[in-house]
Amino acid sequence: MLTACHECDALQQINSLPPGGVAHCVCCGARLHGNPKGGLDAPLALSISSLVLFLIANLFPLLSLTVAGRTQETTLSGASWALYQAEMAPLAAVVWLTSVLGPALIILASLYVLVALRLALPLPFVRPVLIGISRLQPWGMLDVFMLGVLVALVKLAGMADVVLGPGLYAFTALIFFFAAAMARLEPHLLWERLGSRR
Ligand SMILES: [Zn+2]
Repeated sequence: MLTACHECDALQQINSLPPGGVAHCVCCGARLHGNPKGGLDAPLALSISSLVLFLIANLFPLLSLTVAGRTQETTLSGASWALYQAEMAPLAAVVWLTSVLGPALIILASLYVLVALRLALPLPFVRPVLIGISRLQPWGMLDVFMLGVLVALVKLAGMADVVLGPGLYAFTALIFFFAAAMARLEPHLLWERLGSRR
């Protein structure tokens, strides 16, 4: 397979890598891609874990606030809805796209491709879905949302009693699992498997 180095653009021919093998650029030494031991099992397991954590993070409250005896809970989508109701519709849309819809689509698309290739199932549209994952990746900004939550927590701590909910713990774990799943998703390996399927 002919591959362009993402650092120096040098074109080079790369043959199938043995399990555990890594290919480096002949010009600049940058890591081009690898063939991790265990193949697609690790990214598949991490994607399934991400999906479970994503569901918990969305279904359970992120945190509850108590001010003057009144308690209010909010979920991930509830936070976007609150922004919308506060007449910040564009911000609400961006927050929802990058913290809910984007990650959901990326996780589901990765699972679809991984299941199809790992179990050799003749599922349709694997090729466009695989292209879609790389287009969607910039829209999964869970860590940025987390940064916002932490800043809000520090500011709120003095004004209200804040209790962290199960959603926030799941969301924190999701950031790590999601990043690990994306890092283990070797596009080169997926394309190679897809090519050998036909
Ligand atoms: Zn290079």
